[in-house]
Amino acid sequence: MSKKHHLSKIDISDLSDTQKQNWEKVRDLLTRHLEKKNQRKTPERYAILKVIYSLDGHFDIDHLYRMFKEKQFSVSKATIYNTLEVLLEASLVKKHQFGKVQAFYEKSIFNSNHDHIIMLDEYEIVEFCDPRIEAIKKDYEEALNISIESHSLYFYAKKKTK
Ligand SMILES: [Zn+2]
Repeated sequence: MSKKHHLSKIDISDLSDTQKQNWEKVRDLLTRHLEKKNQRKTPERYAILKVIYSLDGHFDIDHLYRMFKEKQFSVSKATIYNTLEVLLEASLVKKHQFGKVQAFYEKSIFNSNHDHIIMLDEYEIVEFCDPRIEAIKKDYEEALNISIESHSLYFYAKKKTK
């Protein structure tokens, strides 16, 4: 028989000290964002944030939904979708359109600055971090007297046959 846990009872005893500190930091960022925007501090929003920050790499809404289902937490896909929109606005997650259909997400804090190569044949995502991109940004900031807030760069690639 399945039992539904109450979301506010998500405990953090299974986290290491660093993970706990990181969790407290992102939790506080979400709290500040929700207070600033006058939005409700629902346990679901915090539970979703916590699951996202326990993940490495990219995920989509279905992936999150399945994770909650496995843990027997009842969260609807609509709630997950709405929470992701809130987290995007709070700059706590990044959204990627790797393919044609669904969007992928990843945590933005405690995650290194990186860009993505999308392998078209096997639908694999390769992350890379190249300091030359930061140098290009700096050059344009100086040349145009601007401050670049963010960037979006995707390479779409196929494996060479020989
Ligand atoms: Zn990534």
